Amino acid sequence: MRTKFIAGNWKMNTTKASAIELARAIAKDAAPGIDLGVAPPFVYLDAVGQSLASSRVLLGAQDAYHEKNGAFTGEISVEMLKDLNVKFCLTGHSERRHALGESGDLVGKKAAAIYAGGLILVHCVGEKLEQRDAGQTLPLVQAQLNELNRDQVSDPERLVIAYEPVWAIGTGRNATDAQAQEVHAFIRSALTKRWNNDFADRVRILYGGSMKPDNAKGLLAQKDVDGGLIGGASLKAESFLAIAQAGR
Ligand code: PEP
Repeated sequence: MRTKFIAGNWKMNTTKASAIELARAIAKDAAPGIDLGVAPPFVYLDAVGQSLASSRVLLGAQDAYHEKNGAFTGEISVEMLKDLNVKFCLTGHSERRHALGESGDLVGKKAAAIYAGGLILVHCVGEKLEQRDAGQTLPLVQAQLNELNRDQVSDPERLVIAYEPVWAIGTGRNATDAQAQEVHAFIRSALTKRWNNDFADRVRILYGGSMKPDNAKGLLAQKDVDGGLIGGASLKAESFLAIAQAGR
């Protein structure tokens, strides 16, 4: 039985004060029965982590660099994240792949470093609209899953896949329940082939892309949708917690 996981990706939003306020509001009303997490901007991780300290809300990071330390100006290592009590970290978010030009090779290196560091790896995959229209969704998602090292990743509880169709992110146009379930089922069968049935059964597959309180119930009711990665709607405690409520 997979516990649903609702994670907020705050992207490059909030101020220090508003991040603390948001974290406190989420922590205060976080009810049991579902796993919750928030990924604030790097510079607010420490403050947000302190605001979440006695709560069950997991602290997450939006990215990490794969090298341990050294001359990598502007980058943040997995060890630095762990120093701040970060428990999960995203890789392969579409904004990093497409707006910031990260290659699949780099995403794979980052995924390996995050997993090796002991964090929960939230690996994001998803197609652009033209790829969907050209019938390339499933091969593309397969290629992005292949960025993960099969021989390295052995603990299904520390692997989370986020299916985020690029055309749905920040656009207000979510995938339908059936579109999400189709790709999630494909991801689970791809995990079965690459690892095994038991492993695939235990990996949580989140949907991301304009998930809001009014569409969350249908999406989260799908057999292979085990939670959500939430952008815009995670910036207000009320809507984030309403999505979590829909998943209970
Ligand atoms: C995201 O960026 O991961 C995301 C799902 O954004 P939004 O919910 O705003 O579409």
